Amino acid sequence: MAAVRECGVCWYVYDPQAGDDVWQVPPGTAFDDLPAEWRCPRCDSGKERFLPVREEAPADPRPRTLEAVYREIHRTKMADVPILNPALAVEALDFAPFAGGLLGALVTPWSVNAVFFPPKGPPAPPMGRARALPVGVVTFLPQTLPGLGEVELLSLFSPALEFVDQAAAVAVARECLKLLLTPPEVEEQPAQSQPSRRELFGFLRP
Ligand code: FE
Repeated sequence: MAAVRECGVCWYVYDPQAGDDVWQVPPGTAFDDLPAEWRCPRCDSGKERFLPVREEAPADPRPRTLEAVYREIHRTKMADVPILNPALAVEALDFAPFAGGLLGALVTPWSVNAVFFPPKGPPAPPMGRARALPVGVVTFLPQTLPGLGEVELLSLFSPALEFVDQAAAVAVARECLKLLLTPPEVEEQPAQSQPSRRELFGFLRP
């Protein structure tokens, strides 16, 4: 996509796809191909005042959709379930690209999970899909959710009654996510008395 440039004086945007009627520049003319005498059609600044527009990637909508879906589950299917932690709310956090998909965490009043939005591909087996994470191989369970298609969940805590507030659950979710994305330590000192991460977080392994 051809670069859009912006006037540093008046913020007029030159879009190569649109060209410029004032100077009769045809659509499809790159900024660098504009005539030397071309000036800002709005404020008459020279070409040298134009700067590339920093194009920020639009935020991936899936984590927000996931929250909406789980708020609805909370409101309906889970409404009368006695294991809800009243201090917790649905929150999707720390989603970032991983292995062609998007990996993050989901806190709900009844669980803390790692969640993976997989790249397009064949559906996961109902018993789960083994995923090679930096920490090791873990099995995510597939779930088909409205508006999202197949989503893979790794339950970290369920129920989630031990968390005193949302911040505590978010902190633990964040810590678990970090562990999943950290390779296990190489055991250089077998006589070490402290348990390794692998031993501490053995529950993450299938
Ligand atoms: Fe201008």
